[in-house]
Amino acid sequence: MASKKSGALYERARKKIPGGVNSPVRAWRAVGGEPRFIERGGGSRLYDADGKEYLDYVCSWGPLILGHAPPPVIGALKRTLEGGTSFGAPTAREVELAERVGERFPSIEKLRLVSSGTEASMSAIRLARAASGRTKIVKFDGCYHGHSDGLLARAGSGVATLALPDSAGVPPSFAAETIVAEFNDTVGLERLFAERGGSIAAAIVEPICGNMGVIPPAPGFLSALSDLTARHGGLLIFDEVITGFRVARGGAQELFNIRPDLTCLGKILGGGLPLGAFGGKAAIMDLLAPEGPVYQAGTLSGNPLAVAAGLATLEELSRPGVYEELEAKGKALQEGFETVLRRYNIAGAVNRRASMLTLFFGAAAVRSVEEARRSDTARFARFFHGLLDRGIYWPPSQFEAAFLSLSHSAADIEATVAAFEEWAREEAKG
Ligand SMILES: *Cc1c(COP(=O)(O)O)cnc(C)c1O
Repeated sequence: MASKKSGALYERARKKIPGGVNSPVRAWRAVGGEPRFIERGGGSRLYDADGKEYLDYVCSWGPLILGHAPPPVIGALKRTLEGGTSFGAPTAREVELAERVGERFPSIEKLRLVSSGTEASMSAIRLARAASGRTKIVKFDGCYHGHSDGLLARAGSGVATLALPDSAGVPPSFAAETIVAEFNDTVGLERLFAERGGSIAAAIVEPICGNMGVIPPAPGFLSALSDLTARHGGLLIFDEVITGFRVARGGAQELFNIRPDLTCLGKILGGGLPLGAFGGKAAIMDLLAPEGPVYQAGTLSGNPLAVAAGLATLEELSRPGVYEELEAKGKALQEGFETVLRRYNIAGAVNRRASMLTLFFGAAAVRSVEEARRSDTARFARFFHGLLDRGIYWPPSQFEAAFLSLSHSAADIEATVAAFEEWAREEAKG
C-alpha cells in the first residue's frame, strides 16, 4: 500500500539510529507495523512521506495545543530567527516568559528555563534534596518524569510498552534512593510517610497521570500527598509537563487548588520547540547557582526561538473561552467513543480530563495503574491500525494520552467517531 517511502526511510534509519527512532515509542513496537515518516503538519493534520493525510491525536505528545504550524507561533519564530538563534546571555523575552508563567501559576515565584521536561524534573529533584538535606524521593508507579537515572523506576508508558520493569544502566544504588508508591492509594501513602517520612526529600507526581494513559487523581489523593509532605518536612513537586497550560490556564494545581513547592513544566511551554522549566518558592529557587550552592546550567537554556514559540503559544491561550472550547471538544470525543462502545458492546473506558484522553480496552473503569496494566492491548493494537487505515493518527500505545488541539474542528471529531464506529462494527463481528 501507500507507505513505500516511509518503509524505505525506516530501513535507512535503522542502519544509523537505534531502532530507527530518536525516542522509543515512535517505533510503534506496542502496536506493530512500521512507523510513518512525517513530512509536515498543518492544523489538526499530519502528512507523511507518501503524501497520506492523517487527523492527528498525538500532537507531538502534548506540546501542540494550537495544532501544527499555528500562524502566530510561526510568525513569532520568523521574526526572532532574523535576529539570531542563541546568545548565551540573558534576553528580555526570557524575563517576559517567567512573568507570564508566574501570572498563571501563583506557586511559581521564580523559575528557571531548561531545554526539556527531563531536565526540569531532574533539576527540581536536585534542588529538593539540597533544600531538605535529605536524599529519598517518592515517585508513583506509572508516572513518568523523563529519563534521568533516579526517576526511571516504574516509569510508565515507554518502559511499560517495552515491558521493561526499569532501565538497564541505572546503578542499583541510585534507584535505591527512589521509593515507588501507588498512584491513588492514599492509605498506602500514609503508611509510607509514617514509616519513612523523615528521610523523604520530596514526592514527585503527575497530578493527572498521563503516562499510563490518562488516570485522574482519586478525590483527596493529591491533598493527602500535599499534607503528608508538608507535615514530614519534605517537598511536593508537581510534574505538570503535560498538564501545565493544558487542563487549565494554571495547570492541575489550579484545577485541584493545591500549591506545590516546586513545579515542572515543558511541552506546551515551548510551543513545539525544546523548552522546559522548573520553579516554585523563591526561597527554594534561590538555592540555585549563582545565588546558592545548587549547580544547574544550560548552553541553550532559554533559547530565543523556544522562548518566542512559548510566548506566542501562551498569548493564544489567553484568549477568552479557549479552555471551554477544549473542554467541549474533549467531551464530544469522549461521548462519541462511549456511545460506540455501548452500541457494539465493546468493553472499554474513556478516561479524560479536559483535552487529554485515553480509551482503555478491556474494562469498564480504570482508576489505578494496576487496572490500566490489565487492559486489552491486543484489541488496542487492532484499534490503532483500524483508525490509521481510516486516516486517524492515534498514539501508538495503550498507555499514552491522546491530545486535542484548538485546531481540531467539530467535523474532525465527528469523523473520528465515525471511523471508530466503522472499526467497532467489524471488531464486534469478530
Ligand atoms: C514528557 C514528559 C516529561 C519529559 O519531558 P521531555 O521533554 O520528553 O524530556 C516529564 N514529565 C512528564 C509528565 C512528561 O509527560
